[in-house]
Amino acid sequence: MSEFSSFLSRSASKASDDTHRWKIAKAIATYDAAVATTKANQFLDWQAARHLAAAIKNYTLENLADLLEQFESNFTARGGKIFWAATAAAAAKYVVQLAQQRQAKKIVKSKSMTTEEINLNAQLEQAGIEVRESDLGELIVQLAGEKPYHIVTPAMHKSKAEISQLFQEKLQAPPTESAEELTMIARRHLRQDYVTADIGITGANFIIADAGAISMTENEGNGRLTMACPRIHIVVAGIEKVIPRLTDLSLFLPLLATSGTGQEISCYNSIVYGPRRHDEDDGPEEMHVILLDNGRSQLYHRPHFREALRCIRCGACLNACPVFRTIGGHTYNVTYQGPIGAVISPHYNGLPQYQHLAFASSLCGACSDVCPVHIDVHHLILENRVEAVRTTRQSWPWRLAMSMFAWMMRSRQRLNLLRRLLHWSQPLLFLVPSNRRQRVPRLAAKTFAELWKENK
Ligand code: SF4
Repeated sequence: MSEFSSFLSRSASKASDDTHRWKIAKAIATYDAAVATTKANQFLDWQAARHLAAAIKNYTLENLADLLEQFESNFTARGGKIFWAATAAAAAKYVVQLAQQRQAKKIVKSKSMTTEEINLNAQLEQAGIEVRESDLGELIVQLAGEKPYHIVTPAMHKSKAEISQLFQEKLQAPPTESAEELTMIARRHLRQDYVTADIGITGANFIIADAGAISMTENEGNGRLTMACPRIHIVVAGIEKVIPRLTDLSLFLPLLATSGTGQEISCYNSIVYGPRRHDEDDGPEEMHVILLDNGRSQLYHRPHFREALRCIRCGACLNACPVFRTIGGHTYNVTYQGPIGAVISPHYNGLPQYQHLAFASSLCGACSDVCPVHIDVHHLILENRVEAVRTTRQSWPWRLAMSMFAWMMRSRQRLNLLRRLLHWSQPLLFLVPSNRRQRVPRLAAKTFAELWKENK
């Protein structure tokens, strides 16, 4: 079955799964309420903050090569190592080889969708190295043998009862549906891993050029333990994560917390400058930062798509998207789901195989409205859609249908006639299977133009 056919079948199954839709709606309703309050409390002018963030990111993209080199020279001056990875395979190979050279047996990981992008866990496990996810959401999906469901909340699709069941089966934990107790079970399970792991792998929310440091933001403290306890710390981050100045964090950290989780600021915000210095008692002996391209330069060199690299992976566009809310994160079958996923994933994962994601959007623009760095997400999806149509050979019935549609749309009279025909044919809806019928919108008896004329 092609990726497109399986996408359609997963979509149909999730869209008719009421329990799944209820869980997602509940999680997003809680998020929406928190975001509304935080935006009002934290920002005097939310729109101005978005514009400023977009301007800083645009400046960054215009000077991307220089800023990355500035980061490299500041970071390596303090003993850190940089690896420039052109592809996902090169990045994963570097980590696996490093782990083998250092005879690592166990790796603890935290907060890195980029390692999902390069499919790192599978390759480390193939090399016989144990990998433990330490972020609560990521631990849950790892125990369940699943991929993250959402770029910020990987286990959004699991209820407390399901998590409890999973912990009973995999961790021999007692049954409980208390969020605090479930967190404590995970905490007890992971504590020992931080001290016994040879390597800690994290992502980076921001790469700070003038400081030569990486910034990571989280709510559980597991990221901080992952960075600090093992003797080697590896960071895997996309090249677009760079920001020019340390002071830019004063805007980006609250912006990310508000859009990501509805908090004014995340609980733990770490800035890491490199490996342990000779006058420091703790911290890793080695620190490596892998700067991943993997299709980003391709986007960078296309003027229409460059703005997609402003993304700070807050996940707000996923939560706002009516399609994501209906079909869920796993249906996309890519690391980055939802509207921003529909923009970037075909470029990272292969346009021919994933171009159908450009059609997983109603183009309502809710994603663009909520984006904290002002990315015109839905127009970029439309760009991908145009490209998908141009590069794919369409079947003759489809081309005929589209030509007729275009012919109809070019004339007001013809469009009115079509609308009347559709209105009259509505009684025939009983021919549509009952599970789809309720989703066909009822057509109004009169068009807006007709009402306008009647009411002058
Ligand atoms: S596109 Fe915007 S809203 Fe979506 S994840 Fe990126 S920064 Fe957040």
